[in-house]
Amino acid sequence: MTFRRVLATVAMAAALCTPALLNAQGPAPAPAVAPAATPPKLIVAISVDQFSGDLFNEYRQHYVAGMKRMTEGAVFPRGYQSHAATETCPGHSTILTGSRPARTGIIANTWFDLNTARADKAVYCAEDESQPETSSEAYVASPLHLKVPTMGGRMKVANPATRVVSVAGKDRAAIMMGGPTADQLWWWGGKNYVTLKGRPENPLVTQVNGGVAKLLNEDRPDMELPAECASRDFAVDIGAGKSVGTGRFARKAGDSKAFRASPEIDAATLVLAAALIENMGLGKQAQTDIISIGLSANDYIGHTYGTEGAEMCIQQYSLDRELGAFFDRLDKDGIDYEVMLTADHGGHDLPERHRENAMPMEARIDPSLEPKALNAAVAAKTGLSGTLLYGDGAASDMYLAKTLSPAQRKKVTDTLMAIWKASPQIQTVLTSAEIAATPSPSGPPESWSLIQEARASYYPGRSGDFLVMLKPRITPIADPTKGYVATHGSPWDLDRRVPILFWRKGIASFEQPLGVETADILPTLAATIGLAVPKGEIDGRCLDIIAGPGESCPK
Ligand SMILES: [Zn+2]
Repeated sequence: MTFRRVLATVAMAAALCTPALLNAQGPAPAPAVAPAATPPKLIVAISVDQFSGDLFNEYRQHYVAGMKRMTEGAVFPRGYQSHAATETCPGHSTILTGSRPARTGIIANTWFDLNTARADKAVYCAEDESQPETSSEAYVASPLHLKVPTMGGRMKVANPATRVVSVAGKDRAAIMMGGPTADQLWWWGGKNYVTLKGRPENPLVTQVNGGVAKLLNEDRPDMELPAECASRDFAVDIGAGKSVGTGRFARKAGDSKAFRASPEIDAATLVLAAALIENMGLGKQAQTDIISIGLSANDYIGHTYGTEGAEMCIQQYSLDRELGAFFDRLDKDGIDYEVMLTADHGGHDLPERHRENAMPMEARIDPSLEPKALNAAVAAKTGLSGTLLYGDGAASDMYLAKTLSPAQRKKVTDTLMAIWKASPQIQTVLTSAEIAATPSPSGPPESWSLIQEARASYYPGRSGDFLVMLKPRITPIADPTKGYVATHGSPWDLDRRVPILFWRKGIASFEQPLGVETADILPTLAATIGLAVPKGEIDGRCLDIIAGPGESCPK
C-alpha cells in the first residue's frame, strides 16, 4: 500500500477528510469576514521544531497553503527564543507558559544532577529519574521537571470543563506544551504514538497507530522534488564517502529512523491531531479548548541533512501542504479556531555546505573541547583522577565533581579556564556566580548581551558551575559521518530567532518586524479568551494582535 493510501485509510477510519498528501487540488481560500468579538472555540498552538526565522524568510514567498495562511494574520517574523541554550526542551517550555527557562526550570534537554545515584549523573528534561533502572536515555517520560503551569493547565483551573490535548513527534514537545494536566498527551514513541506511564490507552489513537504502522511497514518511494528546489539539489561531501543535499526520503519498510526524519512523521502527527479534535469534539463546547501540536520532522531533517539542501526544501513544501489540509478540515467542521505557529529554536546548516555558499570560515568543534577530552586533559595536568567535570557536549552547562575539595576545585577550575581561554573557538565561559548576579533581562531580545541570555537560561540547582559558549560559525559536532551533520543550541540569533504567527478567520493582517519573545505567546493567547494571568507569574507580555486602533490585550 502506498503512503497516500495508508494515510487515507487512517484518515477515513477516523472519519476525517484526506490530508494533503492524498489529494492534488489546492486548499480552499479562507473566507474573509470581520473578526468575531467572541473568543475562539479552539486554540491550536503549533510548534515546528527547528523552524528558524531564516527558514521562514527563505520560504515564505513560496507558501501556497497552510503556511501562506499563517503569513496573512499577525506576523512577527523576528520572534525570539530569547535564552542562551537554544534546545528543544527549553524552547518548548517557553511557548505555552509565558516564561523563560529561568522560570520553567527547563534549562536544557539534558542536565546533570550530581546528587542522583546514576553513575553518569545525567537527567533528561522530560523524565522521572526516580523510576528504577532508568537512565537519561532509557527513561520514563514525565512532566515533573516543568516548574510552571501551561496555557492548558491555566485554562483548566479557570474552567475544569476545558479540554486540553497535546500531540507531537517528540515526548518533550508534547509534555512541555501540554503540561501535567492535559487530558490527552501523545507523542511518537519510535513505532507508534504513546502516552505517559499509567495513562489509559485511547481506542482512537490505537486506530491511528494501526494505520501509521501499515505506512511504516511499506517501502517508501522517493518524494517529488518541487521545481523551486532544483537549485538546492547538489551533493555536499561530508567525508567517509557520504554526502547530503540530494535526498528524496525514500526508505525501506520498517525503517522508523528514516520515517522520523521525513515529512511523513508530520503528516501522521497532524492526522492524529485532527482525529482527536473530531473525536473529542474540541471547539464544539461551551468553553474554549486547546490543542498543542509539535511537528518534529523539520528538526530531524535539519540535523540529518542540514537546512539548505533539497531535503529541507521538500519538507517546507510538504509542511505547507499538510497544514493546509489540516486547517481545511477544521474549516469544513465549522470550528472557530485561533492558530499560533512558532518554533522551539532556530538552526544552523552544516559547515561543509556553508563553505560552498560563501562562508569559508565555517568550522566544526575541536574535539579536545568535549567533556571527555577535557576530563583527560585536566587529570593529566592536575594529577587528579575520576570524573572531574560533567557536561553535555563542548558548549553547554559544565559541572564540577562534588568529590573535589575546595583546593582541588580551584585547581581544576584554573586548569579548565586556561584551556578554554587558549581555544580560538570559545567566545566566553560564564560562571554560575556571574550569571546569578545578572538581573533578569528586559527590553528588546535582539539586543541582549550573552550574559543576559545566560540569565534567561539560569535555574539555580540545575544550571552548571560554568556555561561555555562557542564563537559564531562553529558547529559543535566534531564528526558529521557518525550521526547528525548539523545542529542548533548556540546563543546566536540564527538559533534564537523564530517566527511567531497568529491567525484567525477574519483577522486583519499586519507585520511587526521588531523583536518579541516566545514568552509573549501565552499572555497574547490568554487575552483573546479572557483568561487572567497575573503578570508576576510570567516573563512575557501580551501582544496586541489587532491591526490598527483595536486592542486585543487587557488595559
Ligand atoms: Zn534539534
